Amino acid sequence: MAEFVANKYSGNIMLRVLTLHDSESRLVSQMKTKQIIKFSMMLSGLVLCLASPLLIAGEGKPHWSYEGDDGPEHWGELSEDFLMCSEGWNQSPIDLVADVHAGLPKLEFEYYSANIDEINNGHSIQQNIKPGSLLRIPDRGKSYELKQFHFHSPSEHTVDGRSFAMEMHFVHADDNGALLVVGVLVEEGKEHPVLSKLWAFMPENPGETSVEPIGIEETDLLPPTREYYSYSGSLTTPPCTEGVKWIVLKTPVEASAEQIATFKSRVGPATNRPIQPYNARTVLD
Ligand SMILES: [Zn+2]
Repeated sequence: MAEFVANKYSGNIMLRVLTLHDSESRLVSQMKTKQIIKFSMMLSGLVLCLASPLLIAGEGKPHWSYEGDDGPEHWGELSEDFLMCSEGWNQSPIDLVADVHAGLPKLEFEYYSANIDEINNGHSIQQNIKPGSLLRIPDRGKSYELKQFHFHSPSEHTVDGRSFAMEMHFVHADDNGALLVVGVLVEEGKEHPVLSKLWAFMPENPGETSVEPIGIEETDLLPPTREYYSYSGSLTTPPCTEGVKWIVLKTPVEASAEQIATFKSRVGPATNRPIQPYNARTVLD
């Protein structure tokens, strides 16, 4: 496990960052206006994060982590851009207990088998997706494009207090840049064939991208049943942007103890933000 210590917060971490500029999406939705929210998303900016004094060269954004002085309790202090992490009112993750049985609309996943770029960004293992994979919610006339997916361990969301071994996040955006994240819980069990394929190419060190294109069926990472919890939350990493629609599938998938251990050995033992206050929200199922 020496490798993991060296990787964990070694400082020489390259990040591929998701930069979002929204501050009012929640207000906008509350006001039920039809304003177009202008998000600009930069999914492929590659920047260098230096060890000290916790700044990312070129971006002026601080490095953050999951423990210590730049851990989750301090994210909001690290940068003005991260203020939502400490001052937001609708933050993620949360403990999921359904308040309202709403008869939620059916989800249609139209993910296409694709070659993806796999990157170790120092916080997770992220797969950037080529355009064309969609999540449709026909009853709502909504369609979201899959941008990337990544992993956390242990899970970020809990269900009635229960934590899971891992959680996958499938990050989508609609035409206006509004974000929808699908969370898939992972419990320890059988080896997962798609994770085996992904892990085979997993970049060992922060900053590395797998140069070998990996063709996978992303839908094979989803459980067979698609019942879900839904609530309004935020990104679970800085800048903790709110106005994110969360869908967490109720049925977990399985991964082997070895697969879970391999992930932790690459990115750290705990890559989950702690549970956030519920405040005035409602969880639907
Ligand atoms: Zn995530």
